Amino acid sequence: MQINPDLNFIKYLKGAGGDTLKKCYQCATCSVVCPLSGDNKPFPRKEMIWAQWGLKDKLVADPDVFLCHQCGDCTAYCPRGAKPADVLGAIRAYAYTHYGFPSGLAKLTTSAKNLPLLIGIPAAIILILWYISGGMHLPAGEIDFGHFFGHWDFKYLAKTTMFIDIIMLPTVGLALFSAYKGVSTMWGKMCEGANADPVWRPSCGKFMRDFLWPSVKEIISHDRFNECGANKDRARGHKPLMLAFIGLLIVTTYSFILKDFIGIVVPSLHGPLSLWDPFKILANVSAIALIYGIYILWTNRSNEESESGKKGTFYDWFLIYEIAVVGITGILSELTRLAGLPVLAYFFYFCHLVSIMMLFLYMPYSKFAHLVYRTFAMAFERYRDSGFIAGKSEA
Ligand code: SF4
Ligand code: SF4
Repeated sequence: MQINPDLNFIKYLKGAGGDTLKKCYQCATCSVVCPLSGDNKPFPRKEMIWAQWGLKDKLVADPDVFLCHQCGDCTAYCPRGAKPADVLGAIRAYAYTHYGFPSGLAKLTTSAKNLPLLIGIPAAIILILWYISGGMHLPAGEIDFGHFFGHWDFKYLAKTTMFIDIIMLPTVGLALFSAYKGVSTMWGKMCEGANADPVWRPSCGKFMRDFLWPSVKEIISHDRFNECGANKDRARGHKPLMLAFIGLLIVTTYSFILKDFIGIVVPSLHGPLSLWDPFKILANVSAIALIYGIYILWTNRSNEESESGKKGTFYDWFLIYEIAVVGITGILSELTRLAGLPVLAYFFYFCHLVSIMMLFLYMPYSKFAHLVYRTFAMAFERYRDSGFIAGKSEA
């Protein structure tokens, strides 16, 4: 078999944290310790040789690459210091850019030197809209973020609600479309790799019930993380972070329904929620869980770096910084509002909006993307083991 290595891909992996990949001499110790490895699946030893050969098309279509939950056991036991967990992390970073849409935006998120632009794009959009809204001045009375973009005297959709919708709905729409496009392409490549018969496919309901939902349940329970040996602290930080995002999703959905729909006919719902409102309590508890989770992951990564003497990559840190800024600016804007400090409250609220827009806008290309790619890789794992892949209908 003739191998045509993609040298640029190998160079990318080395620069993205996989600089140790050439040290691998295929002893297979990593496959013995990896909980994902089976008798017929020497993972991640096989992926290490593919990476050395620069076989990028095989790697971005390999579900196991996305199933890896970075427990670090393979790296801890590798006798050559080839750090397979780091190499797999670099392959995933490449895959998110490879599948990302639009590709220009995806490439922008790969380098720290683009950070001014990554912050500048959302900041400029929000500043321009803030200026156009006519709300760019300090409040005369009580500080109310519901009037950040000004207010209308008629009762229908609040002006700030409309401007937040103008900013966030297209951003979330782009992120969802990009994730959908990327996952669909990845799924097609995985099916090709597994020789799936295109005739036998599950119905949408069966796919959700038998493949997707069990994967979501497994992610929420963190079963695989709990089996981690070398990197137990990851589960300790990852779980509160995931619960915080679920809590914030519930609050955002509630707020969206309240302000964009019910608020049209009941205008009194547009003010800030009372501190004792159950959804406000959920929002504040989620914010604390977010900061706690990100603190654990931050400390964990810093310790790993000082132990290994190896500096983390921009990809490793970008999401950690993003989430930390979302949590910190959210809490600071709330505290400065309650303390009656309008300049600081508006400043932190502006930073909070920018950080939230960044989180959504760059979600499909940052480490956050693993949320969708890993979920679908887990669904594919079930699909691969089902009768559908073998060409026999289960329906
Ligand atoms: S990565 Fe390390 S443990 Fe795995 S096959 Fe290569 S040398 Fe062996
Ligand atoms: S980090 Fe854990 S799950 Fe990933 S390849 Fe290594 S041992 Fe397997």
